[in-house]
Amino acid sequence: MSFSPEKKIAVHVNKLFKRYKNGTEATSGIDFTVNCGECVAVLGPNGAGKTTFLRQLTTELKPTSGAIEIFGVNAIVQPNKAKHLMGVTPQEAGVFETLTVREHLELFGKLKGLDKKSARDQTQELLKNLELENEEKKRVGELSGGQRRRILIGLAFLGNPPLLILDEPTTGLDPQSRRTVWLLLKQIIVAGTTVIFSTHYLEEAEQLCDRIAFINAGKIIADGTLQELRARFPDRYRLSYLNGKGQIAMPHIEFFADFAAAREFIGAKEISEYQLATTSLEDVYFSLIGERLQVEEDKK
Ligand code: ADP
Repeated sequence: MSFSPEKKIAVHVNKLFKRYKNGTEATSGIDFTVNCGECVAVLGPNGAGKTTFLRQLTTELKPTSGAIEIFGVNAIVQPNKAKHLMGVTPQEAGVFETLTVREHLELFGKLKGLDKKSARDQTQELLKNLELENEEKKRVGELSGGQRRRILIGLAFLGNPPLLILDEPTTGLDPQSRRTVWLLLKQIIVAGTTVIFSTHYLEEAEQLCDRIAFINAGKIIADGTLQELRARFPDRYRLSYLNGKGQIAMPHIEFFADFAAAREFIGAKEISEYQLATTSLEDVYFSLIGERLQVEEDKK
């Protein structure tokens, strides 16, 4: 492996374009840099280009044009070398259904270059951390959806790669399993692993990440820390309230720059059922996606 920790940049992407054969341009000139030890969440609506982007980083998809460097390795020219530096969840086709959970983890550990003892030790630790100890003798093909997802995540962790790239790691997991995966991710983030993952769970991004990149229509439309992104959205308070009588109504939403203004509004409108909270990542998300849609609308 040519991983040198003194290199400060883990991932560097320049003008990344991917046009599928049917003409769809799924990434439209992405520039993106991730420093060693950072955890970055990639967010965006369905069809935004998140999977296409991540699959180019993992070398599964060849870009139409652009450059990708993983710890200084040109991932387009030397995909195998780059791939050795990262942990990714395998494609469904790469999963061995007839192996037991333990056998599968140990085999992947060995394929990642671990000796027999290290593969066994890491497997034991992952079984415990992913709460799969009771399933270790089950065949992978017999697992429930959530258990299967957890073993796929475990496969990415084997060999302690310096970079993890995970596409929606917790989609389909129940809340308890999601928290189990978060805990595992937190441990490796604290240990200095660089992590990039896509998610639809804004809370997940808030809990785990230093930085968030929003993708829409194949472009990164905002990229920054939670604080930086919140600063783009000046209203700090979000009021959601009901004022319909007796009918099932969607709450009304209003934003306020300060708490006093929100209280004044509640008093003036004589609102009795409401929730007042500081603005969340979700508010930033909708504001950004909304802004973008507006810009596109204006261009027409
Ligand atoms: P996301 O992960 O954000 O949902 P994707 O990267 O899966 O987005 O898709 C981005 C765009 O590329 C979508 O318009 C999707 O329909 C299209 N797309 C994805 N995969 C293919 C493919 N293999 N062939 C053609 N178009 C594709």
